[in-house]
Amino acid sequence: MSQAHQLLVMKFGGTNMQDARAISHSASLAARSLREGVKVIVVVSAMAGVTNQLLQLADAAQSGDIARANDDIAAMRTRHFTAAQELGAAPDSETVRELRELHETLRQAVYGVYLLRELTPRSRDLIVAFGERLSAPLMALALEQSGLRAKHMTGGEAGILTDTHFGNARPQSSTYERIKDRLSGFLSAGVTPVIAGFMGETDKGAITTLGRGGTDFSATIVGKALGADEVWAWKDVDGVMSADPRVVKDARNIEVLSYGEVMELAYFGAKVLHPLAVTPLKESGIPLRVKSAADPDFAGTLVRAQADQDPNRPVKAVTAIKNVSLLTVTGAGVLGVPEVIASVFSAIARENITLLMVSQSSSMSNVSMAVPSTDAERALNALRSGLSQELNVEEKSNVAVLAIVGSGMRGQQGVSAKMFSALASEGINIQMISQGSSELNISVAIDGPQVDTATQAVHNAFSLGVQG
Ligand code: ADP
Ligand code: ASP
Ligand code: MG
Repeated sequence: MSQAHQLLVMKFGGTNMQDARAISHSASLAARSLREGVKVIVVVSAMAGVTNQLLQLADAAQSGDIARANDDIAAMRTRHFTAAQELGAAPDSETVRELRELHETLRQAVYGVYLLRELTPRSRDLIVAFGERLSAPLMALALEQSGLRAKHMTGGEAGILTDTHFGNARPQSSTYERIKDRLSGFLSAGVTPVIAGFMGETDKGAITTLGRGGTDFSATIVGKALGADEVWAWKDVDGVMSADPRVVKDARNIEVLSYGEVMELAYFGAKVLHPLAVTPLKESGIPLRVKSAADPDFAGTLVRAQADQDPNRPVKAVTAIKNVSLLTVTGAGVLGVPEVIASVFSAIARENITLLMVSQSSSMSNVSMAVPSTDAERALNALRSGLSQELNVEEKSNVAVLAIVGSGMRGQQGVSAKMFSALASEGINIQMISQGSSELNISVAIDGPQVDTATQAVHNAFSLGVQG
């Protein structure tokens, strides 16, 4: 398959980087293409679990528990050093020296948080990006051990320049030229760049991150910058599946999805890709493949501009977001006034809160919004202080949003009816309904504890586990 390609970006996820064995295997997947004459750029995630650990230890330092933070750093350090050793690094090697230096800087950054008892989004990004910074040298080492030339670098060094939205940064438009400038020389010299994913840098050199799952996004940014033939995201699953395989045992791999379909899926909770991952690819039409590292010859999922139009399969996948809260603004008569609706949304927008679903009752006497529960408190405060006293705001927590996704739903009758009756047959009450204007999804809000049953029921109703 890869013979026709000249340039591929390969992204390796957390499980593909979790220990020396996984890293060697990942390096062998890149090496396979390199030996066929394909130029490859590698983008890596942190070792599985490390990102969560870094976030937790930063919180511990902020709350004054430096002993716990240091214990966690020590455990992580052992993991990175063991991997380096198992990959064949000598104790006095460059890799070991670099890992030691990175760990020392991490320890200092965490100590600073402890002294100040303050963890800003900026310092959190600095700390959490160490996960990727520590795994890049290990991948470069694994490539070198198999006789290839490699050069590891941070996201910033690779040219990823972002805005200052720490924790959720976006690439600046000049990023693409910068990446090309910085990486082309390595590629023409036969050196494989190994980039720490998830991270970028502001114009002042502060480290930013692109949001959870951001290594997918780093890879597609680099793919666009260099005009790659394809971007391959290697994972621990066969590809993008018809449902979360941890929830639905008979979930199946989806052969083809459009950029739009995959974005909807990721937006509605399918953790398999970052919600913005395909955005850099849209203009140039570069395909993204989601592939299984355990089964590299399996095609996985091809994500491209056009959807696969199978009239028998209007719905391709079902997905869910857990831990959602519904906020309902009520106030007879007042809500019909457009300015009031505008003030509801601007209060939410000022807080930069994602609205997962919105619906307005036909009497116009209430507006309901679904938001991630972690943002509910902030949203409530913003609404209460931003709206007139005549309006009332209520919160219902422990809700989930379930969505079906597929471009074939457009104009097809009976799709929502099928979804609703599948839910009804399980006795699941629908609290809110919305259909995206793109008609790529229909989403419903239901009781949180019923979400897995609901996912399975909807998956069955659309026969998503059956070969198409
Ligand atoms: P990586 O580090 O490779 O990006 P992630 O853990 O972020 O890995 O994403 C892969 C995981 O996403 C899978 O192991 C699976 O549990 C989960 N997942 C959730 N929904 C889906 C889906 N629809 N298709 C495939 N995987 C899914
Ligand atoms: N390591 C980061 C995360 O866990 C980024 C990624 O894996 O894509 O969110
Ligand atoms: Mg991921």
